[in-house]
Amino acid sequence: MRILITGGAGFLGSHLCERLLAEGNEVICLDNFYTGRKENIRHLLDDKNFELVRHDVIEPILLEVDQIYNMACPASPVHYQYNPVKTVKTSVMGAINMLGLAKRVKARILQASTSEVYGDPNIHPQTEDYWGNVNPIGLRSCYDEGKRLAETLMMDYHRQNKVDTRIVRIFNTYGPRMLENDGRVVSNFIVQALRGDELTVYGSGEQTRSFCYVDDLVEGIIRLMNAEAEDIHLPVNIGNPGEFTMNELANEVAKAVGKEIKITHLELPQDDPKQRQPNIERANNLLNWQPTIPLAEGLKKTVAYFAKRVGTLKNASAKT
Ligand code: NAD
Ligand code: UDP
Repeated sequence: MRILITGGAGFLGSHLCERLLAEGNEVICLDNFYTGRKENIRHLLDDKNFELVRHDVIEPILLEVDQIYNMACPASPVHYQYNPVKTVKTSVMGAINMLGLAKRVKARILQASTSEVYGDPNIHPQTEDYWGNVNPIGLRSCYDEGKRLAETLMMDYHRQNKVDTRIVRIFNTYGPRMLENDGRVVSNFIVQALRGDELTVYGSGEQTRSFCYVDDLVEGIIRLMNAEAEDIHLPVNIGNPGEFTMNELANEVAKAVGKEIKITHLELPQDDPKQRQPNIERANNLLNWQPTIPLAEGLKKTVAYFAKRVGTLKNASAKT
C-alpha cells in the first residue's frame, strides 16, 4: 500500500513511518518541521519505499495514496500554545485538506485525536461516549477544540461523502524521539533527572495521567486503521490504563535513572486536567488490543534514549 503520514517527522509519526515501511509499504512522510526533526527519519531516507515531502497541511496537496494517517499537529502544551491560531489552523484546515484528499482518491483516513477532547473530565476512567468538559476559551482550547472539530469533520465527511474514516483518541504517550525541551512531563522529568536538576512538579503533583509506551500506541493505531466493523468510524481510546500521580511518576523516573532526585513545585498551568485514565474496552473488543509495556519498562527504554541524547548535546555545547 502507499501510505501518507502527515507529521511523519514527529515523535509518533516517525515510529509509524518506521513500522509501516518495515511491513513492506510505500510511505510518504509529510511534515513542515514545526516540532518534527529530520533526525527522527534520517535513517529512513535511503529506503526506496520512503519519500519525504516538506509541506504544511494548512495548504491542500495532490497525491495518490491508499491510506492517510493525519498526525500533523504540535502535541505538547508549550508548543501548541506558542502560536495558538496556527494550532487551530493545523487541526481544522489540516483535517479538511486531508479529508478532501481522502475523498478524491478514495483513501482511508485516520485522524490522530486526543484524550484532551475530554478536557478536565467529570467521569473516570473516560469512555468514548463521554462528551467531555472542555473550556472553549482557555489556553488549552486551541488544541482541545481544534481536535474536537477535526473529529466533527471526520464524522461529517463520513456521513456526507462516505469517506472511510477512523478516529483514535490518543492518551499520553512517551518514548524515544520525544523532544528533550518540549515541556511534556515524561521528557522533562527524565532530562532533569539525568542532568541532576530538580524535577519540576506542577501544582501539588496529585493530578494523574496514564502513560502509554510508543510501541504499544503504534500497534493500536495500525490495528484501528486496518480494522473493519459497523461502528469502526466512531472514536477509539488508545492508551495504557495504568494511572499515576505526577509525584508517583517522579519516583518511577528516579528508579529508572537510578539516582536520588529532588523535587521543586511550580505553579499548576491553567485548566490542567486533574485526572485522566482511558477505558480501553472498545479497543480491546474491536481490535483485540491492549498495552503490553508497563511504565517501569518503558521508562527504562526512554531513559536509555535520553541518556545518549543528553550526552551528545553536552558534547556539542562543550565544542562550541
Ligand atoms: P510531535 O510534535 O512530535 O509531532 C507532530 C508533527 O507534526 C511534527 O513533526 C510537526 O513538525 C508536524 N506538524 C505540525 N504542524 C504541522 C503542519 N501545519 N503541517 C505539517 N506538519 C506539521 O507530536 P506527537 O507526540 O508525535 O503527536 C502526533 C499526533 O498525535 C498529534 O496530532 C497529536 O495531537 C497526537 N497526540 C499525541 C499524544 C502524545 O502523547 N504524544 C497524545 C494525544 C494526541
Ligand atoms: N507536568 C509537571 N511537570 C512538568 C511538566 C508537566 O508536573 O515539568 C504536569 C502537568 O501539569 C500535567 C502532567 O504533568 O498535569 C502532564 O503534562 P503534559 O504536558 O505531559 O501532558 P498533558 O497535560 O497534555 O496531559
